[in-house]
Amino acid sequence: MKRIQFDTPVEELFSVGQAVAQHLKKLDIKTAQDLLYHFPLRYEDFSNVQTIDQLVPERSSTVRGKINAIQNRRSWRSHISITEAIIADPTGSVKIIWFNQPYLTKSFAQGDQIIVAGKLDMDKYGLHFTNPSYEKVKYKQIHTSGLVPVYPATQRLTQRQLRYLIQLSMSLARQTTDYLSFAMKKQLQLVDLPFALQQIHFPKNESLLKKAQERLKFDELLPIQLYTMQNRQIMQKTPAPAIEFNESETKKFVASLSFILTDAQRRSAWEILKDMNHQHPMNRLLEGDVGSGKTVVVGLAVLNAVNRGFQSVVMAPTEILAQQHYDTFIKLFLKHKIKIGLLTRNTKRISGSNKSTTKDNILINTLTGNINLLVGTHTLIQESLRFKNLGLAVVDEQHRFGVDQRKKLTEHSSPDNNKVAPHFLSLTATPIPRTLALGFYGDLDISIIDELPQGRKQITTKIIPPPERKKTYEFIDSEIKKGRQAFVICPLIDPSDKLGVKSVTEEYERLNKIIFPDFKIGLLHGRLKGPAKERVMRSFLDNKFHVLVSTSVIEVGIDVPNATVMMIEGAERFGLAQLHQFRGRVGRGQHASYCFLLTNSEADTSRQRLQALVASQNGFELAEKDLEMRGPGEIYGLKQSGFPQFKIAKLTDWPIIKKAHTLAEKLLAESPDLHVHPLIQQKMMHFKDSIHWE
Ligand code: ADP
Ligand code: MG
Repeated sequence: MKRIQFDTPVEELFSVGQAVAQHLKKLDIKTAQDLLYHFPLRYEDFSNVQTIDQLVPERSSTVRGKINAIQNRRSWRSHISITEAIIADPTGSVKIIWFNQPYLTKSFAQGDQIIVAGKLDMDKYGLHFTNPSYEKVKYKQIHTSGLVPVYPATQRLTQRQLRYLIQLSMSLARQTTDYLSFAMKKQLQLVDLPFALQQIHFPKNESLLKKAQERLKFDELLPIQLYTMQNRQIMQKTPAPAIEFNESETKKFVASLSFILTDAQRRSAWEILKDMNHQHPMNRLLEGDVGSGKTVVVGLAVLNAVNRGFQSVVMAPTEILAQQHYDTFIKLFLKHKIKIGLLTRNTKRISGSNKSTTKDNILINTLTGNINLLVGTHTLIQESLRFKNLGLAVVDEQHRFGVDQRKKLTEHSSPDNNKVAPHFLSLTATPIPRTLALGFYGDLDISIIDELPQGRKQITTKIIPPPERKKTYEFIDSEIKKGRQAFVICPLIDPSDKLGVKSVTEEYERLNKIIFPDFKIGLLHGRLKGPAKERVMRSFLDNKFHVLVSTSVIEVGIDVPNATVMMIEGAERFGLAQLHQFRGRVGRGQHASYCFLLTNSEADTSRQRLQALVASQNGFELAEKDLEMRGPGEIYGLKQSGFPQFKIAKLTDWPIIKKAHTLAEKLLAESPDLHVHPLIQQKMMHFKDSIHWE
């Protein structure tokens, strides 16, 4: 057999045919190295080795014995093949029953020494093992002794096959080069990488397993720490225009608003304005719940930039949102001499004129500096776009500027490819708990708007059990007859239906034909691409549908002031913060609004969880609850923002995050570009290529 290399395709491994290779690909396993990094989900504890006379029902046990008899029979009623065997040790004998594995009579013969492990059952067959794990004593034991790994698998790929193949890759574990030096490992109390890779699959005992897990988690967490710290250092060296705070103009503007700023808005605005007065670019994230008033805070920053002769750009994720921003800024700056441009695929406008204009016209006016504030979609920065002097770049519904985005904005910020960056501000409604922010957003400064403006109407939130469904439809009917609109959100039920086309289409048919035959129903799901999605949203916004049925793609912050009902099917399937985001889609106009959480679940825990949503309208509180109850993977907005997906680390692994932080600090202090640690540098480059959190 050829020696296994890290990049050996799985097809070339011993006993892997095309079919198995296809199944492995479904698990993202294409090479031998991928096998090595296919970590167990959990472990079965087969360390309880017993003699046959010690066996008791219902317990997991492992025994070693000789096969006295083995044979197949068919169950005449259910066409199931049954393999029965008797194994014996010096203390007695016990029966084994395997279903649907008739080939076992070929693998084993009378007299073979085998080990079996599994749970014991007691029924009409007497005391016996049912479908236990098994292997011959003469082979190395990977299925039946100690802590046995259980892997993420597919229906067609058994644990046995995976264990066998992964066992083959263990020679690679030994050959893996550890990128951490002996001294680093000693200081951080981490085990060797080759040892960790071996122990994670076939651990000797619990405590070594824990060590292995810790080491591999560390490996996932270190690059993020390096990345964010390096980012911060780079920003601190990049020049940016210091934009001086204009107190009198700012005061005048604030006084002209039709409302009083909340303390949180003032605090955030002040943090932003102070940053903009530095000679290095701001890199700040403004977090605030839906409706907390982030836009006016951006307005203050734009006003100050324009006042000192600098341009601003505001980018939104969709055309509709860009248009809504454009309209809002026009109203906000009605009394100010600020020229605003709107550039999206379908709409091109310059404030002061009711007619639409051309892309070229907008580009020219941006270059000459005639346009002070340019609003557009995230894809706005193209080759042809040049500013006269861009001072502030804002991106809505995004957690951070991507490296490319920042680079382009810097290059395009003036006519002559200079290296002066604008100040960067990202906005998000995702409530990122403080602890997560500290660990993973280390390159960003964060401002939080943690209070809603006074007098906001609460959105009436109710849990709806099945018997009340009919009443709820009647209520929606009455709202629509008053001229209002409703959202219906469906969860993804069928795992093969990743885009939710099926579940949402079925619901659409039901509502259209049976529940609301007289109303117009719209349909939105993940299969619809950008422009098609925008068309559906636009029609709903223009009140061409009474009801919009959607998967969770609806989430991103759009305003439909006329919609008053948010009905969420299978509510227990969503995270609290996500449900809160859905809820935030209504209550945007002057009408009383409602959020209905439909659930069939009788489980107390889901009821309790949903109850939290009824009790609180604070996104941060709900996100903390999510973190506590379901873990950080479920925090809405983290997955969507391309937040790195870990195989093994958790966002709550604090002690390990701290270790990674400590080492990252030390390494970058020694060598800002990591060139004295080429292996670590390489790992970091690899990480950079793999993330898409822009
Ligand atoms: P978001 O943070 O979701 O982007 P917006 O900026 O769209 O929120 O603000 C939501 C609404 O609240 C807007 O109509 C805005 O004019 C209004 N608003 C913002 N700040 C205040 C305030 N301090 N008091 C009253 N209304 C406010
Ligand atoms: Mg907003």
